[in-house]
Amino acid sequence: MAVSVVKVRRPVQPWSNVRPWWALVVGLWVSTRHFFVNLGRFVRGSQDFTVYFPEQRFVHPPAIRGMPVLVQMENGKERCVACGLCEWACPTTCITIFPAETNDEVERYPEIFDIDMSRCMFCGYCEEACPEEAIVMSRQVEISSYSRKGSLWHKQDLLVPVNTLKTRIDYLRNSYDR
Ligand code: SF4
Ligand code: SF4
Repeated sequence: MAVSVVKVRRPVQPWSNVRPWWALVVGLWVSTRHFFVNLGRFVRGSQDFTVYFPEQRFVHPPAIRGMPVLVQMENGKERCVACGLCEWACPTTCITIFPAETNDEVERYPEIFDIDMSRCMFCGYCEEACPEEAIVMSRQVEISSYSRKGSLWHKQDLLVPVNTLKTRIDYLRNSYDR
């Protein structure tokens, strides 16, 4: 099979001719300036240049995308029907689902639904793929753990009651309404 090579003509950017050492100088200047500005604030007793976590919490912008969570319906059950589409769509294969049968109207539910948060990159593909709106991106970003085992979130850890669920979509909607 013949292979054709297409040369893409890219427009010349203003910074194309900037020498690498000059970019290094500019980068160092920015870091140094921030260092002395923050040092000056610290000396004056100001505390507004950093966030003293966990006593203080950072106010996230409305569009922040946190970890994926499972929607828990009013009857206490998960909305997920274990179709496996989110598992298939996940680019890091961090979702593991074992489906099981139930006598409920939905017929299937996930007996096991695990997400390895150490591999999740908060892309939101699982939310996009779900036909039931059963997995949604929350605003929760504090998910660190001391071990690999601790970063494996099971179904009971992931379930969030639908009436307390705070998704980024809700926040975006509210901020647009304001
Ligand atoms: S947010 Fe992305 S990486 Fe994380 S579980 Fe969903 S699809 Fe996978
Ligand atoms: S796509 Fe939705 S319904 Fe299907 S397994 Fe994932 S969370 Fe459950």
